[in-house]
Amino acid sequence: MDKGHLFVVSGPSGAGKGTICQKIVEQTDVELSISMTTRDPRSFEEHGANYYFVSKEEFLETIENNGLLEYAEVYGNFYGTPKKLVMEKLNAGRDVILEIDIQGAMKVKQSYPGGVFIFILPPSMTELRKRITGRGSESEDAINMRLGETLKEVSYIDKYDYCVVNGELDEAVNRVQAIIIAEHSKVSESIYHLIKKYEEEI
Ligand code: ADP
Ligand code: 5GP
Repeated sequence: MDKGHLFVVSGPSGAGKGTICQKIVEQTDVELSISMTTRDPRSFEEHGANYYFVSKEEFLETIENNGLLEYAEVYGNFYGTPKKLVMEKLNAGRDVILEIDIQGAMKVKQSYPGGVFIFILPPSMTELRKRITGRGSESEDAINMRLGETLKEVSYIDKYDYCVVNGELDEAVNRVQAIIIAEHSKVSESIYHLIKKYEEEI
């Protein structure tokens, strides 16, 4: 059986990665990996749905037990991708999407070169500030710290396979879906089974 595709989505805080990934999960068969983090939950977030919220000790223990596909310190907290579930899904032929930062994405690129790397951009810095402020989940200091990282983050865009500007949400979601369809339409080993069947039918 063919392995599933691994899609990796990164971009500046507030660009809309989470919103887009949620829509992709609702509208396609792609499954979202739930990360582990030491950050405090936002008021609307649930343990096991948005993240696994853990202590720093538990996080470090998971690293020691080789339980993370990748991890990084981002904006002052630790975040990581639990390895077992992601690998099981991919091996069972299911597509998985990781919404992770650039450091983590670069580690995945080394350990899983077959991944497809997508960068989400805001239409402008003014809109980015509006979105991150409108989300109402960070203090002003935290917002400024996140916005201050934007130019450094976008300088990594050439390491990614695709970029999507998230201006109008539905348009951005359609573009990410188009990327998923395009990746599934690439010539790969599995197509030779079909061609073999043609030979048998002739
Ligand atoms: P990220 O995951 O990249 O940090 P979010 O998905 O949390 O960003 O989005 C940040 C805020 O912007 C949220 O309040 C979200 O509802 C809003 N948002 C996301 N995409 C759009 C869009 N295309 N147009 C307007 N608002 C958006
Ligand atoms: P937030 O605190 O806004 O939910 O996420 C902050 C940043 O951490 C975002 O760039 C997000 O993509 C990233 N992130 C979330 N989960 C992971 C993860 O498992 N690994 C890494 N490396 N980054 C993550």
